Amino acid sequence: MMRIDLHTHSAVSDGTESPAEVMRQAARAGLDVVALCDHDSTAGWEEARAEATSLGLTWVPGIEVSARFHGTSVHLLSYWHDPAHPEVEAMVARTRDARVHRAQAIVDLLGQDFPVTWADVVEQAGGAVTVGRPHIADALVAQGIVEDRSAAFTEILRPGSAYYVPHYAPEVVDAVTTMRAAGGVTVIAHPYAGRAGAELPDRAFTRAVRAGLAGVEVDHRDHTHEQRGRLRGLADRHGLIATGSSDYHGAGKPNELGENLTSVEAFTSLQEAR
Ligand code: AMP
Ligand code: FE
Ligand code: FE
Ligand code: ZN
Repeated sequence: MMRIDLHTHSAVSDGTESPAEVMRQAARAGLDVVALCDHDSTAGWEEARAEATSLGLTWVPGIEVSARFHGTSVHLLSYWHDPAHPEVEAMVARTRDARVHRAQAIVDLLGQDFPVTWADVVEQAGGAVTVGRPHIADALVAQGIVEDRSAAFTEILRPGSAYYVPHYAPEVVDAVTTMRAAGGVTVIAHPYAGRAGAELPDRAFTRAVRAGLAGVEVDHRDHTHEQRGRLRGLADRHGLIATGSSDYHGAGKPNELGENLTSVEAFTSLQEAR
């Protein structure tokens, strides 16, 4: 049996391990195929590719593009696209820039109540190319304000909190169109994860499919058994490829490599969609 995990993160975004270390962990977890999908950046591709190749892993180049559907956050995975495509570069560069300003705005709000500064967040982000709330969470942990990233999210950084600030992200239909133009095969990540009532509506899929969406991530730890069933039905109706993955973030989340997998059939269909 092939073990295929198509969604992992490195310290290029909000994972805690270098791209090469993620690949070593993937080999240790017995994976045969692994995709690196950092948020809004492909800066880890070369390092990951080199390490995966030397370990005998099949490596898939990926990204997780921050997008929106009428104000609701949507994460769009894309595989095999040309990272140097000008529209792709412009789209993710704009989001990365917006993320920095948004993180500074969150820290300004936090600073009124907690001893946390922008310098703390920069220190925690280290060499990350894409800044996110997990780096702010790490600063809160370092200051002893919360126990871990999960506590920081549930207590302080969640949407709806007084400290939450959103950031610019492209509409999901535009993101699908842009990634398709660059040769990408796109999959909507964990569409039913997050707050109750925040499930991505069916009409978002209808429009994304029209723009060339290829698949949907069904098996993910943030989906219940019941949600997975409904997503499989949705995938059938829309002719979407159903994937599964860990969404591994190193020590930043409990997700373990290979805890959810993509079938060989689904992976073959993704390759054929190129
Ligand atoms: P952002 O991209 O800045 O909006 O932050 C969202 C990221 O935070 C997601 O990609 C997750 O990796 C991470 N995240 C969300 N919820 C949690 C949690 N409860 N514990 C740890 N990390 C989380
Ligand atoms: Fe993340
Ligand atoms: Fe995500
Ligand atoms: Zn992810």
